[in-house]
Amino acid sequence: MSLVVQKFGGTSVATAEQIHRAARRAIREKLAGRRVVTVVSAMGDTTDRLIRLAREICDAPPRRELDMLVTTGEQVSIALMAMAIHAAGHEAISLTAAQVGLVTDSAHTKARIHSISAERINRELDAGRIVIVAGFQGIDPAGEITALGRGASDTTAVALAAVLDAEVCEIYTDVDGVYTADPRLVPEAHKIDRISYDEMLELASLGAVVVHSRGIEFGTKYQVPIHVRSSMTDSKGTMIVPETPGMEDIVVRGVTLRRDLARILINNVPNRPGLAFEIFDRIAQHHIVVDDIIQNVVNGGSEVDIDFTVELDDASETKAVCEKLASEMNVGTVVADDQVSKVSIVGVGMRSHTGVAARMFRALAAAGVNIENISTSEIVISVIVRREDGEKALRALHSAFELDKGP
Ligand code: ASP
Ligand code: MG
Repeated sequence: MSLVVQKFGGTSVATAEQIHRAARRAIREKLAGRRVVTVVSAMGDTTDRLIRLAREICDAPPRRELDMLVTTGEQVSIALMAMAIHAAGHEAISLTAAQVGLVTDSAHTKARIHSISAERINRELDAGRIVIVAGFQGIDPAGEITALGRGASDTTAVALAAVLDAEVCEIYTDVDGVYTADPRLVPEAHKIDRISYDEMLELASLGAVVVHSRGIEFGTKYQVPIHVRSSMTDSKGTMIVPETPGMEDIVVRGVTLRRDLARILINNVPNRPGLAFEIFDRIAQHHIVVDDIIQNVVNGGSEVDIDFTVELDDASETKAVCEKLASEMNVGTVVADDQVSKVSIVGVGMRSHTGVAARMFRALAAAGVNIENISTSEIVISVIVRREDGEKALRALHSAFELDKGP
């Protein structure tokens, strides 16, 4: 008998009515003869609310207690979901991560899944029940309750789908799929029917967070098809699937804008071994994520300029860290530019098409957008632009790669 995992995000179970709606979906699959496992998030903005509450009590709540607190949100929704299914005359059982045996490491607030036992779930399914599992939570080997990180109910769902060998993992959410660009910024954007895991991972890391990255990674690893769709309609959403040869026909699958970045420049660093290490090691010690690193040789080779981007929120700390280091080593000057954004094009088609970068840069030139930095990987080309040019650049690229024409 085929098995489906259905995941309902917070916005899809925000009210009693929506919980009934989600319950009806699960029941419908069951009546169609499938085994059904649902994963639910906390209702609406419950998790945010709980975190705010914790901060009202103290500035730095112990992480263990934070996990104890936030995981209650999911426990509420699984119980209500089970009640809704019962109310409709069907059998269901809610299970916490501990009851399932979803074991993680002990990194509170960002735990990683180690193993999942299928035994209890299979037993309940065999008894004809719809099984409802709490998303976002786990239990560590010592029996402590852990949380998997913000937005990680997706990860619970895809990991369960992998372990249970589900036909598909459906992610029900408040958008009807993954779009060629953020429709709020590009009105011509359209829904993508099929996208490869690699493309989705890149889009997610570049800001199009429709599905949690770690969930997509599980999908890739265990080849679980993921169907992102709206909980409000029955229309098909976006299938995230293994790459097929035909996918390369389309050069660019989607374009993204990461608006709030800052660029840090360290000028006149002596050109000798170990300095780049010193700089980035110090930044890493402060747990700051850096991206788009470039180094240019200046002064006839005796010095280099190093620059990179960070999240805007990290800009002042990064600048301070670099200034301290520069004065300790008696090298260079540090400049922070907090007015930059990053615009990217993503597509597996780039592997087999030529002239993609030229086409991108021509479109930006025609739109009058200056490029401040360029970085590339196998299926992504990104440029750093002034923040005021970000949306214009995004729209120019969306039309240059004919994404407004529809599938
Ligand atoms: N409720 C958790 C959060 O808001 C997990 C999730 O929704 O995926 O982060
Ligand atoms: Mg959520």
